[in-house]
Amino acid sequence: MAEGGEGVKVAEIKDLTRIERIGAHSHIRGLGLDDALEARKVSQGMVGQVNARKAAGVILQMIRDGQIAGRAVLLAGQPGTGKTAIAMGMAKALGEETPFAMMAGSEIFSMEMSKTEALTQAFRKAIGVKIKEETEIIEGEVVEIEIDRPATSGAAPKMGKLTLKTTEMETVYDLGQKMIESLDKEKVSAGDVITIDKVSGRITKLGRSFARSRDYDAMGAQTKFVQCPEGELQKRKEVVHVVTLHEIDVINSRTQGFLALFAGDTGEIRPEVREQIDMKVAEWREEGKADIVPGVLFIDEVHMLDIECFSFLNRALENDMAPVLVVATNRGITKIRGTNYKSPHGIPIDLLDRLLIVTTQPYTERELRLILDIRCEEEDVEMTEDAKDLLCKIGHETSLRYSIHLITAAALVAHKRKSAEVEVEDISKVYSMFLDVQRSTQFMVEYQEQFMF
Ligand code: ATP
Repeated sequence: MAEGGEGVKVAEIKDLTRIERIGAHSHIRGLGLDDALEARKVSQGMVGQVNARKAAGVILQMIRDGQIAGRAVLLAGQPGTGKTAIAMGMAKALGEETPFAMMAGSEIFSMEMSKTEALTQAFRKAIGVKIKEETEIIEGEVVEIEIDRPATSGAAPKMGKLTLKTTEMETVYDLGQKMIESLDKEKVSAGDVITIDKVSGRITKLGRSFARSRDYDAMGAQTKFVQCPEGELQKRKEVVHVVTLHEIDVINSRTQGFLALFAGDTGEIRPEVREQIDMKVAEWREEGKADIVPGVLFIDEVHMLDIECFSFLNRALENDMAPVLVVATNRGITKIRGTNYKSPHGIPIDLLDRLLIVTTQPYTERELRLILDIRCEEEDVEMTEDAKDLLCKIGHETSLRYSIHLITAAALVAHKRKSAEVEVEDISKVYSMFLDVQRSTQFMVEYQEQFMF
């Protein structure tokens, strides 16, 4: 456990995040790009949408190179064209250490907290603090120690840095411990070579020149050689945790406590708590104990935000710790919420001007088929080729999302009739059971007088 000191705790929170299950995007494992950032046709669960994926890859590269702080990206395209999937792919490609926070524009209109508080929390969920902590070497962990490797025959001994797992080689752990003890007792200094007799455990200091002597090889059989590390003696091992600013906020907010992270109900956090944490983090950064890891904040349905939120975003992006903001919308020219003005995607022009805009395109039938194949596999559903063809046709005429939904439903129907495989009849059945948007609209038009107004 790390103790940040002076009231700012960074407790047992790193394991609380990122619980995964089979969700709409669980098949996405990355952006599916090669080393040259070209999009592979089908890779890491991603199909097609080659240009948008390539653009997302370039943005990732900029994030990794630290060149994009304060920038923002807009994913614009029709419903179900993979905007969220691409954002998820970016998150996966960034890896565990880079925070990725996701919210829908509509989430900010909650009764529990103000809009700006909700956005502040979202931003701070996307800013990581990499905290370096020193800890004792524990058995079973990987330790890195400078160790002499006696050459096997005659040749000059090699000096090298080996990474060894202590459980694999018990003596290495002992060696490390003994080296440390001897450093205390016998005043061995950095750069000295010591030997530890494997049988008696006796430690002898050999001096620096010994490393170059031939006796060294002769002794190799029953002794281990350890070179004391240069510079500061490595009694302790450095470990690194990445936590988000929001996590630090929550566990230090007196009213909440870290259990609130489980409940997801963190309430409002007082500005004084955040100020104190920002100061502490700045101190850690100066002392070299911590680094800031700007992550990605993804806001879906960004047209649902209102003018106050947009102005907040503009300001928040100016902060030097700002994460990369990725927003998505499926709207064209529409009203900016909270005003009477229309603008592209319902986003004010000043914010639009900061955005790198990436568009997604409708899928071809072939791409649709590939996505449905991947989803069947993800959901562990066996389906005949004919049934897949039909599902694909339905998807093409209705929507990708609708056809994806039918997979689970059809599997249940097939299961009910004790078939291990989904067949055409199962697809037909669920197609008539659940309406797609078009048929539902038609139904409403036909029977509208029977509905309440
Ligand atoms: P909306 O505008 O309605 O929010 P969207 O553009 O965000 O839609 P997604 O939710 O990403 O669309 O896509 C719908 C479903 O199709 C999801 O399950 C998603 O994972 C999957 N999907 C979309 N595009 C791809 C793709 N290129 N490769 C693999 N799966 C995809």
